[in-house]
Amino acid sequence: MHSLFNHLSQLQELVLIRDEHRTTGDGTHMERLNDSIDQLTELLPREVKALYSRLYKKDHLVMAPMYNGCCAICGMRLPVSMVQSVRVLKIIQNCPSCARILFEESDAPHWVGEKPSRSAPRKSGISRFSAESLMLPDLKADTAADAISALSRLMEQKNFISNSDKLIESALEREAVLSTAMDNGIAFPHVRGVEGGGLTMALGTSRQGFVYDDAGTKVNIVIFITIPTAVSAFYLRLMTGLTESLVKEQNREALLAATTAPLLWKALTKATRYTVK
Ligand SMILES: [Zn+2]
Repeated sequence: MHSLFNHLSQLQELVLIRDEHRTTGDGTHMERLNDSIDQLTELLPREVKALYSRLYKKDHLVMAPMYNGCCAICGMRLPVSMVQSVRVLKIIQNCPSCARILFEESDAPHWVGEKPSRSAPRKSGISRFSAESLMLPDLKADTAADAISALSRLMEQKNFISNSDKLIESALEREAVLSTAMDNGIAFPHVRGVEGGGLTMALGTSRQGFVYDDAGTKVNIVIFITIPTAVSAFYLRLMTGLTESLVKEQNREALLAATTAPLLWKALTKATRYTVK
C-alpha cells in the first residue's frame, strides 16, 4: 500500500509540474512530462486507475494531504476512525466531502509562523507571502543545493517553517524532475504540501551568480516558495506575477543592487507592486 501511495503522489506531482511548465516554462519539456504521466497512469492497478481518472476529470488535485485531522484541500474535519485509517495507509480513503484520496506524510515540513491576528490590518501585495526577515542578499551559493539550503534554513530560523532538512530534500527532489531555473537568471525552487499556513516565500540574490543546473543555466536570483497543496493553482498566478515583473531588467538590477535585507525587501515590494496583488 505504501508503494501505491508513493506512486499516486508522484503522479500528482508530475501533473502539477506539467501545469507549472505550461504556465511559465517554454514548453520544451512537455513531451517528456506527458510520457512520464502516461506511463505512471498506466502502471496503476486497474480499479485505482478508474478512481484516479474519475477524480482527475474534476480537478488536477487528486491527492489530499491530511493535516491536523482535516482534509488539507477542502478543510473537512475527518472522523477519528478515518484519521487512524489514513495514518496506517491500509486502504484508500476518500475524503467524505471532496472525495479526494487522503494520505499523510508525518514528517512533512509545515507552517509554524504566527497566525495573522484579526485586529491587524490585512496585508496586501507581496507582504502576504513574504517578509523582510526572509530576504537574503549576498547569497553564498555555488549550486542549487547551496541556495535552497540557505533559504530553507532561513525560513526555519525565522520561525516560518518546521523541519528545514526535509524541506531541502523535497525541493531538491523537485529540481531533479525539472529544473526551475529560467533564462533570465531567476530560479523558482519550491515545495508543495507544506500545510498549516499560507504560501511562504524567501528571496536570495547573488551578484556574481552561479550555475544552477546540469543544463548550465546561470542564476543570480533565487525565489524559494513553500506551498500548501490547496493553493497550488494560486501559486501559478503568483509565479506569473513574479515573472512578469522580473522579466524587466531594471527590476532584476534593483534586486541585485540591494545589499541589505531591508533594501532588498524594499526593492522587491516596488518591483512587484503592480504584478502581485
Ligand atoms: Zn476534502
